Amino acid sequence: MVSTEDFFKKITSHAKEYGFVFPSSELYDGLSAVYDYGPNGVELKNNIKNYWWKFMTQMHENIVGIDSAVFMHPKIWKASGHVDAFNDPLIDNKDSKKRYRADVLIEDHIAKIEEKINKEVAKAQKRFGDGFNMEQFLATSERVKGYQAQIDDLRKRFADLMNANDLKGLKDLIIELGIVCPISGSRNWTDVRQFNLMFATKMGSLSEESDVIYLRPETAQGIFVNYLNVQKTGRMKIPFGIAQIGKAFRNEIVARQFIFRMREFEQMEMEFFCRPGTEMQWFEYWKQERLNWHLSLGIPKEKYRYHDHEKLAHYANAATDIEFEFPFGFKELEGIHSRTDFDLKRHQEYSGKKIQYFDSEINESYTPYCVETSIGLDRTFLAVFSYAYTEEKLEDGSQRVVLKLPKILAPYRCAVLPLVNKDGLPEKAKQICEDLRSSFRTHYEEKDTIGKRYRRHDAIGTPFCITVDTQTMEDESVTVRHRDTMQQERIHISQLKNYIIEQ
Ligand code: ATP
Repeated sequence: MVSTEDFFKKITSHAKEYGFVFPSSELYDGLSAVYDYGPNGVELKNNIKNYWWKFMTQMHENIVGIDSAVFMHPKIWKASGHVDAFNDPLIDNKDSKKRYRADVLIEDHIAKIEEKINKEVAKAQKRFGDGFNMEQFLATSERVKGYQAQIDDLRKRFADLMNANDLKGLKDLIIELGIVCPISGSRNWTDVRQFNLMFATKMGSLSEESDVIYLRPETAQGIFVNYLNVQKTGRMKIPFGIAQIGKAFRNEIVARQFIFRMREFEQMEMEFFCRPGTEMQWFEYWKQERLNWHLSLGIPKEKYRYHDHEKLAHYANAATDIEFEFPFGFKELEGIHSRTDFDLKRHQEYSGKKIQYFDSEINESYTPYCVETSIGLDRTFLAVFSYAYTEEKLEDGSQRVVLKLPKILAPYRCAVLPLVNKDGLPEKAKQICEDLRSSFRTHYEEKDTIGKRYRRHDAIGTPFCITVDTQTMEDESVTVRHRDTMQQERIHISQLKNYIIEQ
């Protein structure tokens, strides 16, 4: 596994050099855990957004979208539980003065034991070769069973401490496990304290005692407080969903992870309202459906796994994460929660307005239950980008960096390149480019040798480079070079559009 530090260095510098992601306010030496997207980055990000939006609102006929404001009435965050409970347990190392999330220190410790199991598996695989039976090995190896028992015991104790909000117990566990600060190497820890992650600001027009408002830490509450509006105006029948893409803000404690953990980020969330008692069935459905979405990008299924929560949030009766194998290990990419009727009930209580649904099929009124799917847009960007980033040694000894992005997400679908800058080739290439532009984002480029231009498009993930040469002028054919294989094919210009769609 690449070290986290090396990985972030590589990815950050590639993302910056090729106009994907810039540190925010770089002129002023940056702003911690805040990033800007450049010309290629915004295209990739928008393509991810569109892919999600279309899947949710176009491929499911009972899901509609909204775009609610970032600012909301402060009582909403009281009702949702965020004012009282949206905390992370933090701990400082007195020697390095670095701050950590106590829960993450323990999770990382558990991940290290998991890593030991993986090593045992790899060793056994080598030893037994083709005859290796993973299930049997996991069930019978004494060493693996020992590690697994440690993990199970730790997970249980950890979940109990978190559920009981036992901060002293968390610190005791960190000490007992011998967890050291990665920077100072010491166990000189402060006590664990709770830290609320919401950013507060002020709004002039509210009365003085309630003038604090929050930058929303999730987009979901904008959906809940619009439930009645959407249900009534759209005459929506349960089960139905409301989707939203938008910014969220969290004052994260640990901010050393590039766009994995940002203080300002974007979420793509969907709340699916259903009849009480059917929520587990919808929870299972959305678990599978969301995984299908990830797999439809063409990334292998081994890169994803479910992780069921041991500690349930105050609003949930079931929760699973879809984790992605980033180069620094499996981490949460998307959360799927069965939120019961918690949110709508609380808004009913705090607003004093009735939030009920009359179900004509069973002739009953009730507060709908809800299953949420919540995915970070920036984290998806990082997942796709890090999976796509490939360094390859070529036959001639040179090296190329290629972004093997899913075709549908690439900033440019194709580039049109005249082989040389004369003999009418640029004009012909421009004309082809114009024809393709209405169907795909297409780039025209004539500067530098053809080899250099190919490399530049490899580095930003353009799936097809179309080259115009002297033969084009004779028979209207061009070469199409494939990014991943570097193979070239001759195609007639009239076939280009279909060819690119079908590939
Ligand atoms: P984590 O445990 O990593 O802090 P979370 O469980 O708090 O995440 P949720 O509240 O479930 O996250 O948010 C839903 C999704 O939003 C996450 O799966 C993740 O993709 C994304 N997300 C959450 N916090 C951040 C952040 N600070 N920066 C970027 N994306 C984030």
